[in-house]
Amino acid sequence: LEPQATPEEQINIQQEESIRPHRLADYIGQKDLKEVLDIAIKAAQSRSEALDHLLLYGPPGLGKTTMALILSSEMKVGCKITSAPALERPRDIVGLLVNLQPGDVLFIDEIHRLSRMSEEILYPALEDFRVDITIGKGQSARTRSIPLQRFTLVGATTRIGNLSSPLRDRFGLIQRLRFYEVDELTAIVQRTAELLQTPITPDGCEEIARRSRGTPRIANRLLKRVRDYAQVKECGDINAYVANQALELFNVDPIGLDWTDQRLLKMLIENFNGGPVGLETLAAAAGEDSQTIEEVYEPYLLQIGYLNRTHRGRTATPAAWRHFGYNPPPEQLS
Ligand code: ADP
Repeated sequence: LEPQATPEEQINIQQEESIRPHRLADYIGQKDLKEVLDIAIKAAQSRSEALDHLLLYGPPGLGKTTMALILSSEMKVGCKITSAPALERPRDIVGLLVNLQPGDVLFIDEIHRLSRMSEEILYPALEDFRVDITIGKGQSARTRSIPLQRFTLVGATTRIGNLSSPLRDRFGLIQRLRFYEVDELTAIVQRTAELLQTPITPDGCEEIARRSRGTPRIANRLLKRVRDYAQVKECGDINAYVANQALELFNVDPIGLDWTDQRLLKMLIENFNGGPVGLETLAAAAGEDSQTIEEVYEPYLLQIGYLNRTHRGRTATPAAWRHFGYNPPPEQLS
């Protein structure tokens, strides 16, 4: 998946692969998305066609890659996984396209980062299943069309607003992934614990779920941290108390805010009196990259109503003030 990954990252990737669901029925939550795709799969199968191109958008870790893999196994076709930064040169994307087998799923992560040239190669591939390449230079240059197998592009992005509209228009299905509810995450923790053969009580699952920022990837990661803790401290089965102790140690607060979430909100409250403050100013003050704040941290803080985006900048809501033990100033309450 990631050729430059360090040995530790490789192990993480392998572990993530081992707990990924492979069937639509095992994919927990995202009811609307599953319904839409279930219909699309059945319709395509009954016509013996490839699935329509699909764009999935939403914050990282919500199950976009997993869904692409599930689609390919439900359709009984292959799946090629790549991401836009790996397709910098036109020949990278051409090479990938001409090697696709009939019906294959091509998954391109971070598709909003495709280069202009690669994007232009993709248009006729998506629409007419062909690539146009130019051979030779100057006066003797000719364009040749190479036919492709019919395939399904699954694009994933955390920033739908950054996609060019010609690219967006070429997807037959555009679906948003939502943050998960606590009961859905509880089921995910339960399932992963079974796969990892980790004894855990239902309230232990729920405690981890509540602190997972609505995100399956985080739920699975926290479960592994709690499992390590329980093993070293010889706590036996993981229950809510053990999960609580472990997650406190790892700086995950009771509603799942991690160190950076807490830092951003505290900064906003303590240094900027709750805002409004511009994203770049906040990023500089917190020593974080503004794009990471926007794509990774803000969506959840907006979702739980701790942060607002106004035209004058970011503000902390009264709920955020109270969470950190402060009384919100009167002007924030109006
Ligand atoms: P994304 O591509 O959106 O960043 P992934 O598809 O890589 O997210 O999902 C991250 C991890 O979370 C995967 O390893 C998978 O095991 C788990 N996961 C995601 N969605 C679900 C789901 N709906 N049910 C069960 N596990 C899930």
